[in-house]
Amino acid sequence: MEAFLNKISDAGLDASSVMGEEALVFWNHVRVHVATTPQEKAQALIICAEFRASLKQYQQSIDDLQAALELLALPQDATLILEVRGCLAERLVDLGEFALALSEYIALSSIAVETSHIDAYVKAVIGMGNLCDVYGDHGKALRFYQKIDSIDHAISSRSLRLRYKLYKLSCLIELNQIKNARELIAECEELSILVSDKVLSGQILLYQAKLLRQCGQLDEAMKCLGHVKYSAGNINSKWLSNMIRMELGCCLNDANKIHLADWVLESAYKRIKQTGSPILNLKLANALASVYEKHQNYRKALEYQHSAYRIESDLMKKVPISELGSGQLRRLSRFELQLKLILSEIENKELKETTENQKHTVAKLQQDVFTDPLTGLHNRRWLDVKLKDLLLHDVKFALLVVDIDHFKSINDELSHLVGDKAIVNVSNELTQYFRFRGASCVRFGGEEFLVILERANVEQAKMHAENYRQQIFQFDWQPVLGERGLTVSIGVTLHREGENTQRTFYRADKALYRAKANGRNQVCSE
Ligand code: GH3
Ligand code: MG
Ligand code: MG
Repeated sequence: MEAFLNKISDAGLDASSVMGEEALVFWNHVRVHVATTPQEKAQALIICAEFRASLKQYQQSIDDLQAALELLALPQDATLILEVRGCLAERLVDLGEFALALSEYIALSSIAVETSHIDAYVKAVIGMGNLCDVYGDHGKALRFYQKIDSIDHAISSRSLRLRYKLYKLSCLIELNQIKNARELIAECEELSILVSDKVLSGQILLYQAKLLRQCGQLDEAMKCLGHVKYSAGNINSKWLSNMIRMELGCCLNDANKIHLADWVLESAYKRIKQTGSPILNLKLANALASVYEKHQNYRKALEYQHSAYRIESDLMKKVPISELGSGQLRRLSRFELQLKLILSEIENKELKETTENQKHTVAKLQQDVFTDPLTGLHNRRWLDVKLKDLLLHDVKFALLVVDIDHFKSINDELSHLVGDKAIVNVSNELTQYFRFRGASCVRFGGEEFLVILERANVEQAKMHAENYRQQIFQFDWQPVLGERGLTVSIGVTLHREGENTQRTFYRADKALYRAKANGRNQVCSE
């Protein structure tokens, strides 16, 4: 989507400046003239559909979404397809087309499982539960919502997790399961701290008030309702404010403040009639009927009961409740198993990756422990291990001690940094010369190196030392050291059977001193 937005602004268009009807023209233009791929055209249609819904043009919004669907294909467009089908289902619910909405939710759940999109799956199940709620079958609605319990931990959106729990909570309250409802409210409160959505927090307060009213704590219930904060212009906020009014009316009624209750509920009823939501209308008509019945105004009570009955039978005709029966729940149970399998596979893969990473880290650490950071050669720690191994296996070896001549003066004259570069060059030449000669090269310290030549006799060792000395002498030092050159002195010795390595070192050192004393830039042996 971000790339598409960039494309739109590159075309000199400002997507943020349009609203309402103007937005429809804008996104139509974008779809025809800016969008090039089917995905981009579908995205333009989805946005158009959103604007149409906000203009209450529900049927055209549905048409746009269906046109978007035709542009997309599985599996590559799975995310977009799930988004479009989710919007489509919502829109169909807005239109009261519950049977078509259910088909969308069913399709949505199958695609979501096939493509392992947990959040989209959860939305589909919530949609099915909501349809049962519309029908007034809270027990069945709860059974749908409970199908999410076992994959709760895998929901990636916190607000979606909170929403599904709130739907469950509403059912528990309707079903008078007070203890379970209390526990769930505490869970929702914790979650809402992280979600910080005013409507969802308001909903928690609403359910708290309902619970308090059910327990006869009317003052506390009304206080609770007073704490709800609204966010302007939000469609869900409107729903919440109507629900709060209704709950307040019920509290006032229970507190025998009949005139206030009437007034609050009647004014809510008028407002809701305008929004045309049959579900809210039904709830309110029922609430008003019970208020009037309680206060023996049977004529009015009957009027509201009649209108509640009309709405309810209308809704019942439209809700495909038989298709939301045990067959559908069994289908979801199969999906539940499939999703659990997918989740455990994902977890196993992650675990494997973590273990691989740890192995890699351990290997890297081991390498670091045995490597000299400046030159990449082995270090003294490695040398200790290597020497023990050679002694253990009685391997004959020659030892070369290489020391840079007058190195201190390079540091003093040309800086420590240049000194480092010189060390790196000497070391690179060492690696390069001895690479294929069964040798191990070690940075022994400072400007001093060791070469272990396995199974070599003294002549071979001296020959290699001499070759290497010449290579360093002839090396083009100009780019590193300017006018001055660089030489090395080398002491050579053989390890003698049965002696400890300190003795071998001692002899190699003596040979090196001789080379230095003789004028440097030369090889001496014991
Ligand atoms: P000789 O010909 O007798 O070996 O003389 P030299 O100057 O090479 O020997 P000396 O032992 O007096 O000096 C070695 C210098 O190497 C001293 C120290 O500051 C320097 N040195 C040791 N390690 C490093 C290093 O990692 N980088 C640099 N730039 N200098 C180092
Ligand atoms: Mg030196
Ligand atoms: Mg030295």
